[in-house]
Amino acid sequence: MTSEIIDSKSLKNDPVFGQLSFDSHEKIVFCNDEDTGLKAIIGIHNTVLGPALGGTRMKTYESEWHALNDVLRLSRGMTYKAAITGLNLGGGKAVIIGDPKTQKNDALMRRFGRFVDSLSGHYITAEDMGMETRDMDVVREVTPYVTGISESKGGAGNPSPITAYGVYMGMKAAAKFQFGTESLAGKKVLVQGIGHVGEALVKHITEEGGQVIINDINEERLENLSKKYNAHVVLGKDIYGLDVDIYAPCALGATINDTTIHQLKAKVIAGAANNQLADEIKHGRMLKEKEISYAPDFLINAGGIINVYAELEGYGKEEIKNKTENIYNTTLAIFELSKKENIATHRAAFNIAQQRIEHRKKALNS
Ligand code: NAD
Repeated sequence: MTSEIIDSKSLKNDPVFGQLSFDSHEKIVFCNDEDTGLKAIIGIHNTVLGPALGGTRMKTYESEWHALNDVLRLSRGMTYKAAITGLNLGGGKAVIIGDPKTQKNDALMRRFGRFVDSLSGHYITAEDMGMETRDMDVVREVTPYVTGISESKGGAGNPSPITAYGVYMGMKAAAKFQFGTESLAGKKVLVQGIGHVGEALVKHITEEGGQVIINDINEERLENLSKKYNAHVVLGKDIYGLDVDIYAPCALGATINDTTIHQLKAKVIAGAANNQLADEIKHGRMLKEKEISYAPDFLINAGGIINVYAELEGYGKEEIKNKTENIYNTTLAIFELSKKENIATHRAAFNIAQQRIEHRKKALNS
């Protein structure tokens, strides 16, 4: 489901519950503060497994409808990410409407923090696009319901290296299923987006002897990283038909779509970006038919949430690493299930997550 899908009739008649991305969300909180100019929406999708945890994103949106759609879609995704990873957390997310470069300040973040605090722990926030660790430190001044604060303040710090490690584990599992070996030595891997997660992933792959091809819109970064990792650079958008073994989307969502899916030569897709399939059902199915092993994004990019969960539960780096390493086993199990039941891997992962939630729901109601 994409944010572009807007139905003008429902916009008028049912702007919230009629949203295409509304999926039995438990609670949606609209936050407004005249003094600071704060306009935010907190979406709590599901709290059956635990408090709803998910980052806060700040960006300018085309319309309030787009902001609502984004928070509904993202909070739902968090429910399934936590469930498949075996964490006792629900799914939530928040969006602040505005330009983080010009409209973000400490007063606004504190006011936002007080809205989070008013939910008494049903929602726990963290960093997302447009936010920095420092912003979470400011939120922490007014509420305990925030994770991802600085290591110097007792937090788990930057989640990107651990996210990259989880993606690497998922990639190795997909390689094992597709090529019969988990080793990436000699494999050609296209990494699209060499930001925080992408760079750390490039490092893991090159250290194992994989050949990395990098693509980004930031040419300076491309130049630096190509020297650092001896990686081959490909410029521009025309990258999907490249002759590679593995494609790792680490920049944007919806890069697997009606156009690109027919161009792909890669036999494995494993990357960090959220919502990689433009249409989860249709493109998930098409990848299966094309015998392309797709490691579900919400499963293999869960390292970041494992990292912030550790902050809540108070466990250390060793356990974070072990839990993230386990993404390898879960991904492999998903591939086996997908094969056995002849269903897309995305569907298989989703079904397991859903079952976990249903079991807990039954236990709570019995
Ligand atoms: P980042 O902003 O550090 O890096 C993104 C990179 O993608 C940048 O270098 C940017 O220039 C590049 N980029 C943007 N548009 C592009 C395009 N059209 N083509 C090619 N490159 C493009 O972000 P990140 O923290 O590395 O996260 C990468 C992805 O993983 C995002 O989709 C994010 O939502 C997802 N993710 C990140 C984490 C985490 O812990 N950081 C956790 C889960 C999911």
